[in-house]
Amino acid sequence: MAKRDYYEVLGVSKSASPEEIKKAYRKLALKHHPDKNPGDASAEDKFKEAAEAYEVLSNEEKRARYDRFGHQGVSGNGGFGGGSMNMEDIFSQFGDIFGDSGFGSFFGGGGGSRRTKKGTNLRVKLKLNLKEVANGVEKKIKVKRHLIAEGVTFKNCTTCQGTGQVKKVVNTMLGQMVSASTCPSCGGSGQIVDKKPQGADAQGLVIKEEIIPINIPGGVGDGMQLSLSGKGNEIPGGIAGDLLIVIEEIEDDVLMRDGNNVVFDLYVSFVDAALGTTLEVPTIDGKVKIKLDPGTQGGKVLRLKGKGIQELNGYGKGDQLIHVNVWTPKQLNKEEREKLESLRNSENFRPDPGKSEKSIFDKVKEFF
Ligand SMILES: [Zn+2]
Repeated sequence: MAKRDYYEVLGVSKSASPEEIKKAYRKLALKHHPDKNPGDASAEDKFKEAAEAYEVLSNEEKRARYDRFGHQGVSGNGGFGGGSMNMEDIFSQFGDIFGDSGFGSFFGGGGGSRRTKKGTNLRVKLKLNLKEVANGVEKKIKVKRHLIAEGVTFKNCTTCQGTGQVKKVVNTMLGQMVSASTCPSCGGSGQIVDKKPQGADAQGLVIKEEIIPINIPGGVGDGMQLSLSGKGNEIPGGIAGDLLIVIEEIEDDVLMRDGNNVVFDLYVSFVDAALGTTLEVPTIDGKVKIKLDPGTQGGKVLRLKGKGIQELNGYGKGDQLIHVNVWTPKQLNKEEREKLESLRNSENFRPDPGKSEKSIFDKVKEFF
């Protein structure tokens, strides 16, 4: 895709003053900042585009080259040509336009989340049966975490003086450029181990097994991920990562989940369907007795209200739906055959769907 004109990107005229350019960029950087648009790729692109435009137009020499030669005049060895400016480069610009302490306060992050190192996340799979999914459950999860060892002390990293970043001045044909990168000595935390107890690694960490209790709410589903913040791995000079719990549903043998409802396929004999009966059906919370009316048709759906799955983050509950299937005998002995034969032409055995249709829908008979 063709690059947009830098003046157009910043929304300023070709004769804009350095002050106007700075002001325009500041506005765009705030608008498209990744902290304000998490996960929005187009905002990130615009953010980078604006940064690139500002990088050129804020520099007298680069701006002059750009005015004369266009994008070609400033791409190539600059390190930012071709949209290759990375986030670190961009953020290192901000000292210039927002002042050293200015930027963090714009986003109320007290320095911004970007600077805070975070430990790695732990991810565990958790299998739940239908009852646990339906009603919620408290589980204890065993994890091995990297924790900062007891008694370990830290001091400021001598390589980066505690900033976590090392800056390098590079001379290019376009002038001096400062590039910032993560400090190799401390890995960006700004802290290194001063004293550590036995058993701790070079970062002052030990691996410990922990049992973490978690309340799973009712209504979760397969593949859903719950996050316990701060229960992942710890990191010196930063905040702990998260514990991510991925839900796996164990399929039930007889009950099938359908959203927040539970479906049960009931098979009754032709005789029970005709004469009516009382029978037991399984539910999430155990067996319940239901009454089948005389003359129940196959395909009828009985509804056990509130016998389904808890609404996630809600107060309601789904229902259990009982699909009635009428079982037709596949084999008959002589006696059975004779009895049925004698009924073949009986008037009541002739299908007549019009009469009964209205009464079969969602009629509930429920006993506990
Ligand atoms: Zn360092």
